[in-house]
Amino acid sequence: MIPSVLPTYIRAPLHFVKGEGAWLIEEDGRRFLDLGSGIAVNALGHAHPALVTALTEQAQKVWHLSNLYEIPQQEALAAALVDATFADTVFFTNSGTEAAELAVKMARKYWYEKGQPQKTTILTFTGAFHGRSSAAIAAVGTEKMVKGFGPLLPGFKQIPWGDWDALDAAIDETTGAIMIEPIQGEGGIRPLPDADLKMLRKLCDDKELLLVLDEVQCGMGRTGKLFAHEWAGVTPDIMMVAKGIGGGFPLGAVLATEEAAQGMVAGTHGSTYGGNPLGCAVGLEVMKHVSDEAFLANVNRIGGQLRQGLEGLIAAHPDIFEEVRGSGLMLGLKCKPAVGEVVKAGYDNLVITVPAGDNVLRLLPPLNLSEEEAAEAIKRLDAAATEVASQITAG
Ligand SMILES: *Cc1c(COP(=O)(O)O)cnc(C)c1O
Repeated sequence: MIPSVLPTYIRAPLHFVKGEGAWLIEEDGRRFLDLGSGIAVNALGHAHPALVTALTEQAQKVWHLSNLYEIPQQEALAAALVDATFADTVFFTNSGTEAAELAVKMARKYWYEKGQPQKTTILTFTGAFHGRSSAAIAAVGTEKMVKGFGPLLPGFKQIPWGDWDALDAAIDETTGAIMIEPIQGEGGIRPLPDADLKMLRKLCDDKELLLVLDEVQCGMGRTGKLFAHEWAGVTPDIMMVAKGIGGGFPLGAVLATEEAAQGMVAGTHGSTYGGNPLGCAVGLEVMKHVSDEAFLANVNRIGGQLRQGLEGLIAAHPDIFEEVRGSGLMLGLKCKPAVGEVVKAGYDNLVITVPAGDNVLRLLPPLNLSEEEAAEAIKRLDAAATEVASQITAG
């Protein structure tokens, strides 16, 4: 018999009943160190007092207002994002997938408005992840995601990750945009080198293409800059944001330049919940924290400490780990045994990690992780690796 919850997830048998900062407390009282943050969502950890205050104060005033009316919290968050980034304008969604939907619509509408309606094709990359809507799965095109869900939205072409000759060859008169994650998350913490992002920006300028960056996972301070593309010193035309932006409240956004957004006039897009007062009140509080230079410096400092610890784990467990990837607090550890085994051993040792593609163990801790917690994280991962190694020896 089908479970009452549609069985699309494979779930670990863990019942967390409370969260405190970087810690999740199981029903049975065990305290887990959370290096997953709900997949980069709980950017300030669990139950951050400032977020609880922002949420509850707004909850006592008004939760939801239709976008038929002006929403000051939404305007304030949009202004903060515009102030801090390349963007001139922001649309709020409830998720990363919805942000991807709008990014696709916006890119196509742009070329339509420019009198080049044939430029509908969006180039994407193998290993990418942009969400689970019909557009987002068509963008990625892997059998795992699309099989049985056709007909797919046309107008996407996948390029092998890092194969710039193939990218060049794929560009034709129908190409309108390149969509890419500065660091692939689901794909296994695969960073796009700064020089390559610079090259893509130039390519887009030369060939008249829009550069669409998906910073749903790597944005909002995760890499030690507010947005990952800042490391390369270039800016996109359109950017998707979600996950960390709401600190745990479902919130997403599309940021764009005035030029790229010109087709999105009244009536061309909308959302019932997107940008409601509750979400934006929390988002504004998150933004205050993660856009602070001292906060970002700390992400870099703790990220460096964690990375050094992970390098030590590779030295200590060469049969288990082989490579550290990523930047700031978006780190990946490539595993030799199946990554699922390492995640499971992590649970046994009270540390939560997230598996990713390419057999990579993903670490996405709260961005305010302390030095002591980072040291504890390495200890627990060390214990997990020892456990996996002893299982291998026991055969
Ligand atoms: C998680 C993710 C998405 C999808 O976001 P949802 O909120 O799950 O819809 C899109 N792009 C990237 C890079 C992501 O990591």
